[in-house]
Amino acid sequence: MKKTHKSIQNWYKAHGRQELPWRTTNDPYHIYLSEVMLQQTQVKTVLERYYFPFLKKFPTLKALGKAPLDEVLKMWEGLGYYNRARNLHKTAGMVDKLPSDIDELLKLPGIGKNTAHAVATFAFNKPVPVMEANVKRILCRLHQLKTPTDKELWKTAYRLVDKEDPFNYNQAMMDIGATLCTPKNPLCELCPLCDICQGKDESTLYPTKKKRIIPTREQNITIYIYNDKLSLAQREGRFLHGLWGFASSEVPLCASEYIGEVTHAYTHFKLICKIYVSYETEPMQESYFSLDEIKKLAISKVDEKILKLYSSRVSNI
Ligand code: SF4
Repeated sequence: MKKTHKSIQNWYKAHGRQELPWRTTNDPYHIYLSEVMLQQTQVKTVLERYYFPFLKKFPTLKALGKAPLDEVLKMWEGLGYYNRARNLHKTAGMVDKLPSDIDELLKLPGIGKNTAHAVATFAFNKPVPVMEANVKRILCRLHQLKTPTDKELWKTAYRLVDKEDPFNYNQAMMDIGATLCTPKNPLCELCPLCDICQGKDESTLYPTKKKRIIPTREQNITIYIYNDKLSLAQREGRFLHGLWGFASSEVPLCASEYIGEVTHAYTHFKLICKIYVSYETEPMQESYFSLDEIKKLAISKVDEKILKLYSSRVSNI
C-alpha cells in the first residue's frame, strides 16, 4: 500500500488542483462551505461566481448564523438546491465552531456522511476517506464492483486511505476521478492506481449505470399584476422554501391571458409551467413588486425564467 500511496501523492503534487482556495486553508467553515456548494455544482461555477462573494458577505460561521435567511438565499441564488443554503444557515445558527468529531458533525442539519468526513479530514486532518461520486467510481473500478452497497464502498475506502497524509490523498482521489478515471474513456495509462486496479481493462463496466426515467410535472402559473407591479409570495413548503415565487394554481383563471411556457429540469423531474397573466383592478394578493424590486429578492431559476418570459412579452406590447 505504501507504494500506491506514494504514487498517488506524487501524482497530486504534479497534477492536482492544489491552488483551489478551499485546499489552501484549514478553516473548517471555508471547507464546509465549499463542500456544500460543490455537492451539486461544478468547481468552475462555485469558484467564479459563488464561493468568494458568499465569504465576503458572511466571513464567519457566526456572521452567517446571525444573517437573515433571505440574505443567505439571495447569495445562493442560481446555485439551486436551496435546502443546502437553509441547512448551512441552520447549522451556523446552532454552532459558532464546527466540531472535528464525525459523529458530532453528523448531528448538524444537512451534514451527511461524506460532508462530515470531508470536514474532518480537510479541516482537522483526520485519517478518514471521502466518498463523492468520483471516488466511488474509482473504488468500483479498483475492485470490479458493479453494484456495491454504501457499506462496502466505505469499507473499501477506509482500507485504502493514506493515514499519513489524508488531506492530499483525499484531494488526489477526487482529482483522479475527475480527470483520469472519468465515466467514459478513462486514462488508465496515466493513473497512479493502475498497478493495483483490477477493473482497468473493462473499466466502464464498473459501476453498473442505472437507467433513470425522469418524470414530467405540469403547473399553471399566474402572474397577478396590479398597478404595473407583480405579485410574488415567499414559499413555505419544503421545496424552494424561503424563496420568492409566482403563484401556481390547479386551473388558470378564466380572465387570465396565456403568455407561453417555461420548462426547467430538476434532478428528479422535469417541470413544464404554463404561464398566465391576470390584471387586477384592486390588490387581491399579499405583496406586489416592481421589476427593480424583484431583482433584490431571492427567486428560483424557474421563476427567473418566468420573469424573463413576462418581460419579453411586455416589451413586445
Ligand atoms: S487504472 Fe483506470 S480504471 Fe483503474 S482507477 Fe485508474 S483510471 Fe480508473
